[in-house]
Amino acid sequence: MKRFVLAATAALISASLAQAEVTEEMLLNDTASTGDVLTNGMGRHLQRHSPLDILNRDNVENLVPAWAFSLGGEKQRGQETQPIVHDGVMYITGSYSRLYAIDVKTGREIWQYDARLPEGILPCCDVVNRGAAIYGDNIYFGTLDARIVALNKDTGDVVWNKKIADYKAGYSYTAAPLIVNGLIITGNSGGEFGIVGAVEARDAETGDLVWRRPVIEGHMGELNGEESTMTGELNATWPGDMWKTGGGATWLGGSYDADTDTLVFGTGNPAPWNSWLRNAGTPTDGNAGDNLYAASRLGIDPSNGEIKWHFQTTPREGWDYDGVNEVVAYTDRDGNDRFATADRNGFFYVLNREDGAFVSAVPFVKDISWAEGIDETGRPIFVEDNRPGDPSESTDGNKGEVVFASPSFLGGKNWMPMAHSPVTGLFYVPSNEWGMDIWNEPITYKQGAAYLGSGFTIKPNYEDHIGSLKAIDPDTGDIVWEYQNPAPLWGGVMTTAGGLVFTGTPEGEFMAFDDQTGEVLWSFQTGSGIVGQPITWEQDGEQYVTVISGWGGAVPLWGGEVAQKVNYLNQGGLLWTFRLPQQLAAN
Ligand code: CA
Ligand code: CA
Repeated sequence: MKRFVLAATAALISASLAQAEVTEEMLLNDTASTGDVLTNGMGRHLQRHSPLDILNRDNVENLVPAWAFSLGGEKQRGQETQPIVHDGVMYITGSYSRLYAIDVKTGREIWQYDARLPEGILPCCDVVNRGAAIYGDNIYFGTLDARIVALNKDTGDVVWNKKIADYKAGYSYTAAPLIVNGLIITGNSGGEFGIVGAVEARDAETGDLVWRRPVIEGHMGELNGEESTMTGELNATWPGDMWKTGGGATWLGGSYDADTDTLVFGTGNPAPWNSWLRNAGTPTDGNAGDNLYAASRLGIDPSNGEIKWHFQTTPREGWDYDGVNEVVAYTDRDGNDRFATADRNGFFYVLNREDGAFVSAVPFVKDISWAEGIDETGRPIFVEDNRPGDPSESTDGNKGEVVFASPSFLGGKNWMPMAHSPVTGLFYVPSNEWGMDIWNEPITYKQGAAYLGSGFTIKPNYEDHIGSLKAIDPDTGDIVWEYQNPAPLWGGVMTTAGGLVFTGTPEGEFMAFDDQTGEVLWSFQTGSGIVGQPITWEQDGEQYVTVISGWGGAVPLWGGEVAQKVNYLNQGGLLWTFRLPQQLAAN
């Protein structure tokens, strides 16, 4: 057996071998089991809420570093992982498709796995990875060359390694995989390359494909090695052959709602960005040009991959408002089972948990220009003048009318997950206030080449801030408090029963806020920008908090004028773990 350990530490390692298997039951109960963090989202509802209150408003000022772990290497870039903690070991993923197992008590490395990436990978938006999944004796993660790898969690040895899709055609993988009933469920990335979004389920033990569901209408699904059903209805909402390269990347992964036995996946922009090539008409033509199921949320049957329901946030999408954002399951104050999701298009939606039906929508950023609002059916009330112009209508046929649209294509909210507190009933949304000049250009599909048909420049909407952490009441749409940050927010949020909201900033501050007032109660400078996702757990009667620091992600690459504004920020790659010492917990 091959192990990447030093002889001097072998005794310590063998003592930690033969750790407990992770079961379906443990995944189901992750939120309540405060000694570990087994799922992306700190529970299948994705609330990112811990019932722990050892650490709270009164003593958070005593939170101190316990250890820090360097990811090392010459290559750094954005670190967006959510750590997993199980049986004394922390598992994190790093930029460039790396995975680390770390002794949770000391911060010492147990093993490291570096995926061997081929030349010519095509990640659109930095070489990030958002986290691993754990089940049985394995730890799983996706790689930038669009593969999914199962490793033995104790040794780091490869158990299986499967291709999700062809990286040469623009596919990649960055999301945390999802485990449900012995299936490992993945999406895909590559919406800027004319790929076709899909959700796939594999046997977690063998990696064999069980079902596959493309998310663009006209494509055939697969179940147990045979064709299953067509997604949607051919040419119902797509003209000609455009559906064949129709985008809809499922790049942020998905979640599982055990109450309704439903997988929930979001889908990215329809391809190309130039919407006139996909719909020359106007929204008054009904839904003929909506481009289903791009820019949507989908409810999927985990047993066979059939689509149970869909909700499209941006029909005929034309601003790169990917509909991938996480869908958080919660119960509202009247006891209704709901989903909440904050879309890139700037609106915060509440959906019915049973069937995905629209309940309500409110703006969560200021200055939304592309829609006046959302009507009672959940459909946007478009501002037609804010649709970037049709290039074929321009004098030379090469550049359509330029519009200033808000939010920018990086979204009122991008990938970074919000959190819910069942104690306050509020959602804590990491948002950004920015817009863009955007225009359309002619484009034809070429495999492995960018397939946009658009040009753009992102601009701040305000002089003094872009980032905005908002506490939103999902029942009323009221913004209860707001924290404004100079740089765009790009990291995840976490809530605790101790009355705390944690998040980090690109300026490097890891911060704890009062969940009711937004008062900053604690802050720690981590040395690089935070674009990762905090977690908390309990060990030996003490509460711990971990977050990764390492600036990067899409903003430095695509941020236009905003990227210029924040180009002084330093890269890094440090995992910080904090502890509230027992003697300081009483305050
Ligand atoms: Ca747990
Ligand atoms: Ca996109």
